[in-house]
Amino acid sequence: MSFCRARFVPSTALWLAVAATAAHADGSTTPAGSVAVFGADPARATVIAAHAEEVRLAAYSQLLGESQPRPWAERCAIHVHATAAAFAAAVGGPPAASRGATSLEFSGERVVSRRIDVMGDGSETIPDALAHELVHVVLADHFTAAAPPRWADEGLAILFDAAGKQAGHEADFRTARERGLAFTASDLLTLDLYPDDVRRQRVFYGQSAALVRWLIARRDAATFIRFVADLQKGDAGSAFERHYDLDMEAVFDSAWKEVPPIQSLSFSISR
Ligand SMILES: [Zn+2]
Repeated sequence: MSFCRARFVPSTALWLAVAATAAHADGSTTPAGSVAVFGADPARATVIAAHAEEVRLAAYSQLLGESQPRPWAERCAIHVHATAAAFAAAVGGPPAASRGATSLEFSGERVVSRRIDVMGDGSETIPDALAHELVHVVLADHFTAAAPPRWADEGLAILFDAAGKQAGHEADFRTARERGLAFTASDLLTLDLYPDDVRRQRVFYGQSAALVRWLIARRDAATFIRFVADLQKGDAGSAFERHYDLDMEAVFDSAWKEVPPIQSLSFSISR
């Protein structure tokens, strides 16, 4: 199972962040493009960077409706870790189940630092958490005034995970629902920090992905993105009525009964 910690940080540490990025730049094995890969040999880094660009374009196109996004002038640093200890040291000790983390820093409404840490210990060339983390980075370009709600941010990122991972999240949610342990509408929508308890984290990820899939299937991704932006401005009930013509509690009642199949939305990326 894979969790991640997407951190949106106002740029109080802007200059430190820029300095840190510059110091690392010499060690990058990918000289051009929107990402810089660290911790992989040049051949692997080239494959990872190409895949990252493919995911970046897909996320921009499918989630934000932008088919030709500009390259990131502040390149996204992708740090590939060979061991859990190296990963934990880099991101500050996440839960043991975590395989990816994203850190973003803003100056006003501009992203000035993008960093992804991923486990790269398996036999696969491309780290399994990479696509998920890149979606967080792409969304940050759109939600510049404030971070998107946790459930929406994680739910959208999970739609870019491999089918097996998504199925695991779905199973977690279905089990929780059967046991009466799913989040209430208000609890899920207002959750700001990740749950401390690992079991609650699993429910949170599974339920968030299920709700995002259901809402996108009901309309489309563009509507969902506008809905999330509205959520940040006002109350959730009004946003549900305006964009989905549904009562919020009714959405929660219905969503859990007819969640679309995994990868029904064509968000899968070729590998
Ligand atoms: Zn995530």
